[in-house]
Parts: sequence; C-alpha cells; structure tokens
Amino acid sequence: MSAPLSIYAQLTLKLHTRLGLSPTAIRLLYAYEDYRIGRIDQDEFGRMVRTSANMRRAATDIIAKAATFMANHAEEVKHCVDIIQTCTEILRAADRPPSMVGFPLKKLPLEIRHRVYDHYIRSNTIPEILTYPRKSTCDCVAYSPSWPLSRPVSLALARTSTQIKDEFLAYFYKKATVGFTCSCELIKRMTDNEILRNSARKVRVHWTGPVSDQAFLLLAKCPRLKELDIIISKSTTVYMTKREKELRKYFTTQKPVRLVDALGIDELLLIRGLEAVSVSHLSTKQGGRRVDEDKVNLRALLRSKLKLEREQD
Ligand SMILES: [Zn+2]
Repeated sequence: MSAPLSIYAQLTLKLHTRLGLSPTAIRLLYAYEDYRIGRIDQDEFGRMVRTSANMRRAATDIIAKAATFMANHAEEVKHCVDIIQTCTEILRAADRPPSMVGFPLKKLPLEIRHRVYDHYIRSNTIPEILTYPRKSTCDCVAYSPSWPLSRPVSLALARTSTQIKDEFLAYFYKKATVGFTCSCELIKRMTDNEILRNSARKVRVHWTGPVSDQAFLLLAKCPRLKELDIIISKSTTVYMTKREKELRKYFTTQKPVRLVDALGIDELLLIRGLEAVSVSHLSTKQGGRRVDEDKVNLRALLRSKLKLEREQD
C-alpha cells in the first residue's frame, strides 16, 4: 500500500475545502504531518489527540466526510481512501500507550549529565545544608533543623530510574552539606543510605546523643568525607565516655563534664584525611550554648588530628 498523501499534497488538491473540513480537523492533519516527519514524537502527538475530545472527534468526522464524498465522486476515491487511512493512523497513534523510554539521559557523556544535574540542583535551590525530616526515635532534643540557608530540596529526579538515582544522588551528596541533628540521626541515615555513606563530602552534625561514639566511627569510614562541622552544645556532655563514667563512680565531683570527656571524643579523633574542620555553637536562640573556649580548643585539637592523612587500608 502506498503512503497516504501528505497534508501539503492534500492542500494542493483542495481536498479540505471540498470535504468541508473544520479548522480543528485541518489542525489535526497538520499535527499528524509533524508527527509523520518526526517534528514531534509519538508521545506528544498521541497525548494531543487523547486529551482533546475535539481532536478525536475531528478524526472520525473526517472519515465520515471522506466516505460520503467518495460515494458521489468516484474519481476522488483514491484521495478519499488516503485521507481515511491517515485518520485511521491518527486514531491508532492516539491509542498507543506512551513509551516509557523517555529522554535517553544515560546516553549523554558523564560531563554533560553532571551539567544537567547541576542545572537541576540549581533550579531546585540546592540548600547550603541538606537536612532530613527526623527519622530517629531517640530522646535527643530535636532543635530546629532550620540551620542558616537550610532549605527543602526536591530530589524528584532521583525517582526516574535506578541508574539515574544512584548517579544523581552520588553527585548531589558530593555537592551538598549534609546536616544531622544528633548522632542517632546520622547513624540511621548513613546506615540506611549506602550512596550517602559513600558519597558524602561535607557533613555537619550536632554532637549529641547516646551513640556519638558509633556515629563518629561511621564517619571515619566515609570514604569521601572532606569537610566536617561539629556543632557543640550543653547537651554534648550529657553522655560521657566509658572511662569518665567509670571514674565518676569513685571520684565524686560536682564539676561539669568536660568536652574532652564527652561520649565520642576518642572516635572523633580517629577521623582522618579531612581538608576542612570547623566547630560551631548552636544558635543562641536554640540555647544550651557552651563557652567559646570549648569551641576554640576543640577546633585546634580536631584540626591537628583530622587533617592527617588516612591510613591506607
Ligand atoms: Zn538522637
């Protein structure tokens, strides 16, 4: 069977005028021509016809008009059959399920994909600090996660396919600073999310909670960790190292626990290979602020240890 006449050939024959086609019908035939020559893809064309009752009706109207016209004009049978064939194809294209292939992002070179991710992240307002809704059911004081410049971010792109998800999230975690409101939260998120654990580059964590020792051990194993901001507060010393706890059984004292005896200090000092280390207070509004001396001294201690080279496994 030969291909039906193009819309332009039909126009030359003034077939539209003679059939008395409506403007919608003519628009439909033009759209079909665009689809036929590849200017619009099947999904777009199918969606256009499917979602418009007028377009669909126009296709059946054209068929009816062509059939009636053909009965009285034997010399036009071939052209009328052509246009009926076109409309049958239009209806078939409209009923075809949309392809799930989508844009072949994975076929682009990695550098270009990273630029796409960058653009996506920017258009979704990448936060300075990425915080999660709390997942842990611990008793730590869940102070406001609204750290400066912390904003919600849409990661919808990560839901497109497993391949894109892995690649995009790895890239995203490399760019963003990931914030945790307590050590329990860090453990929960990092244990559940392997991509986060393996890709996180900048981490900010409030040093508080009954599992800070385990949290810092976990951080020490994050292969790409380069920047760490430790937030201290009065609650940092609520839990002590085993040693301090033991000693306090025998050497009773009214003195508050020192920062260097807080649970997790030994494990924190095991972290290596960092490029930047900082120590921050909780914001004054959130209370529980420690003295500046703690901040400065801890920062000096951490910088002297955490920037040392990692030992090779
Ligand atoms: Zn906690």
